[in-house]
Formats: sequence, C-alpha cells, structure tokens
Amino acid sequence: LYVDAPLDDGAELILPREQAHYLVNVMRREAGSPVRVFNGRDGEWQAVVADASRKGASLQVETRLREQVGVPPLRLCFAPVKKARTDFIVEKATELGAAVIQPVITRRTQSERVRTDRLMALATEAAEQTERLCLPVVSEPVTLERLLADWPEDHRLIFCDEAGDGEGAWGGPQGRARPMLDVLRAEPDPSGPWTVLIGPEGGFDDAERARLRSLPFVRAVTLGPRILRADTAAVAALTLWQALAGD
Ligand code: SAM
Repeated sequence: LYVDAPLDDGAELILPREQAHYLVNVMRREAGSPVRVFNGRDGEWQAVVADASRKGASLQVETRLREQVGVPPLRLCFAPVKKARTDFIVEKATELGAAVIQPVITRRTQSERVRTDRLMALATEAAEQTERLCLPVVSEPVTLERLLADWPEDHRLIFCDEAGDGEGAWGGPQGRARPMLDVLRAEPDPSGPWTVLIGPEGGFDDAERARLRSLPFVRAVTLGPRILRADTAAVAALTLWQALAGD
C-alpha cells in the first residue's frame, strides 16, 4: 500500500478516507491483519492494521522489509490517445518501470485534455500491484517543441518511428530506423538515461520526423514491420528496454 507519510519503527499511520475504505471494504483487512507499505523514500515496511472500522483505519509500522532502491533512468513520452488506451499506457509504463510518464502534444494528437491527477491515481494503483517501491511521476502535458527545447543533456531519445523500416521508408540524415534492441546494444551504457517517445494515432508528421531525426541525441528505432497501436508500441518499447537494460 502506498502511504504519503514517513515510515519508521513504531510509526502510526492514519489512513485517508478513500484508502481506509479500500483497505477495509475492498481488501477486507481487519485489526491485526498484516499490510506492507511504502512511501517512495524509506523502502518497504511491514505494518499491521491497528484499527479498522467504518469510520477509518490506522496502521502500526513494524519492521523494514526492503531498502529503498533507485529509480531507473527511464522516461516515457507519449501522445495522449483515447482515454482507455491512455490509461492502459500509464498502467503498463508503471509496471515496466518508467520513472516519469510525460504526455506530449504533437501535431496529430487528438486528445489534448489529460487529467494528470487521475492518471497519477492509476499509476499509484499499478505501483502497488507491481510492488515497486516508488511511484512514477505523471507530468503535465507539453508540446513536442517544448519537450525538445528543454531536453536534459544526458538523456538519449528513442524515437519509435513506425515509418522507418518499410518499403521506401523516409530516410533522413540517420537513414532507416534500426531495431530497438540493436540501438540499445550499441550504446556504451544501455541502462540510460533514456526517454522513449511514442506518437499519436495518426503518427508523427513529416516535419516532426525530420526535426526529430536531425537531433544528435535522437535514435530512430523500429519495433518491427507492422504498424502497432500506440499503446502496443509503448508496451513493446518498454519491454525491450526492460529486457536489456532494466533492473
Ligand atoms: N492508427 C494506429 C492507432 O490508432 O493506434 C497506429 C498508431 S501508430 C502510428 C502510433 C505510434 O506508435 C507511432 O507514432 C510510433 O511512435 C509507434 N509505432 C507503431 N508501430 C511502430 C513500429 N513498427 N515501429 C516503431 N514505432 C511504432
């Protein structure tokens, strides 16, 4: 269970109403039940339900089970798609270890309204389910231009380019997109930091692709010969990263 409070031997945690409801009515925990908790800073702790009633619930923190581990240097940038598919992307990116989830508005993005508070709640549930010890940050949407203008110097950008490997594919200064595993393997430090960029339902337009491919920190990659849906592409790219560089 994620808790927004310091964790220490003997600490008492009074859960907010929604979380108390989840614990008591959904997870069916009662006084004396064990619960594992984390806060993204102090590792994972064994706690026990001290009090559980209709009015609320509190936990008593007992012992540390796991030390805090660092966040993998992985950011997922994606153009928001339809609500259910955006939710899926956020959930799977959390499961697959992304530290930052960044919606990006491109020219063909159709769903520009994103409720980051709702996505953060989804990411919290996914983090609890997958037993990671820190929450990803779901950032407010930015335009592709702004994203590139504020680029963190040490990050490389994996540009997932669906048009990069087909017959007569657009070449550009970097030539054809290369398979993502080859690109990761060719890097001196495959663990990153990396940013993975996935486009909208209609893909990137030619100007965006040309701009992306002209930048020195960009690696254009293909995820195979078929055009994947944006949510499938996000999972495929993050899985390849996980297979080679994730810990
Ligand atoms: N029209 C479909 C949809 O509704 O989801 C396809 C969307 S596809 C154009 C969305 C994004 O997924 C692309 O911009 C690209 O970033 C990524 N993508 C899809 N297939 C890919 C592939 N084979 N290689 C690399 N990236 C891919």
